[in-house]
Amino acid sequence: MLKPRLNVLIVGAGLGGLSAAIATKLAGHEVLVLEQASTLSEVGAGIQIPPNSARFLISWGLREAIDRVSVLPEAIRLRSYRDGSILNEQPLVPLAEEDYGGPYWHCHRADFHKALVDKCYALGLTVKVRINSMVTKIDFEAPSVTLSTGSTIGADLIVGADGLKSKCREQFLGRSDPPHLTGDLAYRILIKVDEMRKHKDLEEFVRKPAINTWMGPQGHAVCYLLKGEGYYNIVLICPDNMPGGVNVMSADPVEVREFFKSWDPRLQKMISLVSSVSKWRLQNSTEMTSWTHPSGKFTLLGDACHATLPYLAQGAAIAVEDGGVLGGLLGKLEDRSQLPGLLRVYEDLRKNRTTRIVTGSTDMRNILHLNDGERQKRRDATLLADDVRPGF
Ligand code: FAD
Repeated sequence: MLKPRLNVLIVGAGLGGLSAAIATKLAGHEVLVLEQASTLSEVGAGIQIPPNSARFLISWGLREAIDRVSVLPEAIRLRSYRDGSILNEQPLVPLAEEDYGGPYWHCHRADFHKALVDKCYALGLTVKVRINSMVTKIDFEAPSVTLSTGSTIGADLIVGADGLKSKCREQFLGRSDPPHLTGDLAYRILIKVDEMRKHKDLEEFVRKPAINTWMGPQGHAVCYLLKGEGYYNIVLICPDNMPGGVNVMSADPVEVREFFKSWDPRLQKMISLVSSVSKWRLQNSTEMTSWTHPSGKFTLLGDACHATLPYLAQGAAIAVEDGGVLGGLLGKLEDRSQLPGLLRVYEDLRKNRTTRIVTGSTDMRNILHLNDGERQKRRDATLLADDVRPGF
């Protein structure tokens, strides 16, 4: 029997939307991705790609492309904020590959995004990615989308992958649903490795790649090397002090130094090498009742339905998983009438898992950001004593 070939329209060419595009095309369907921006790119600096996401990327033939632009950290090291002493070390090589079926990579976001865009183009004309295409309205029954230009595009299935401030989610809910403040912000910083090399005490951070996390009162720091040895990626988390209505802005390095002034002198030295900093308000979502329209012709994925704090480094990873699971299920379609049931299975498979990760990431905040005291001492003792293993 000939399998049905659906026209699938994906709103948003972020890491989630592009993953869904690749998986859906590999499942034998036609894909159109609509992106509001005028260029295809990613903002921000580094990103961690844990094995649960790497497994999908490898199954789509992307191992070599991601390997080329990525670093393989040997371990995740959890450190005390005071002096940087290691409280716990979780080895990643070869454990990630052996136990979880894929490497733990980190790379520049722009390189990750480009690898996905290149794959879409390599898959031929049946995956089209159209820029300058902002979706303003959705007809969930038709189904179709209307663009800001007024033109309408129809499809068999529409997938909303338009991120944190999703227009698709808003239209689906029939009301405004702004993301939730989490009370934290992230300073995102890149420093030149050459600058770090001038300081003997920073040498260990650039000699052997690892993910280093300092845990301290009200905040934490995550640092790792980017490919090419040109830049070291630093994310510093602290309480949100941003003015209302602004989600991204430049910051004065002086305020960063002030917050981290009693932390590990080596971290302070890294921060002293910084000339420009941006800060991002960290927001997440509460669990939706459903992601899928009763018409059975629309669903959501990625940050559009489960934005999370980045404290487990899983936001993009679970968006990639969403795309992979949806594409895999679409590959099983034998008759168009099965589509509504298939979308219910997609939601059943994904919703509990992604909710656990969103709440788990918030719980991590309470572990990473403990003030000095009895709970912090118990946490540190547990980390020192236990063979704490990551789970992906
Ligand atoms: P987005 O990346 O937001 O993509 C949505 C796309 O839709 C955009 O291209 C946008 O322009 C487009 N769009 C929006 N509206 C419309 C419209 N109306 N019409 C057409 N197009 C539209 N995750 C990890 O897995 N590992 C990490 O190490 C990690 N670190 C992080 C560090 C920080 C500081 C932060 C803030 C997040 C981090 N994340 C990490 C989370 C990760 O960045 C996000 O979860 C992920 O990028 C979400 O991908 P997405 O495709 O769902 O949404």
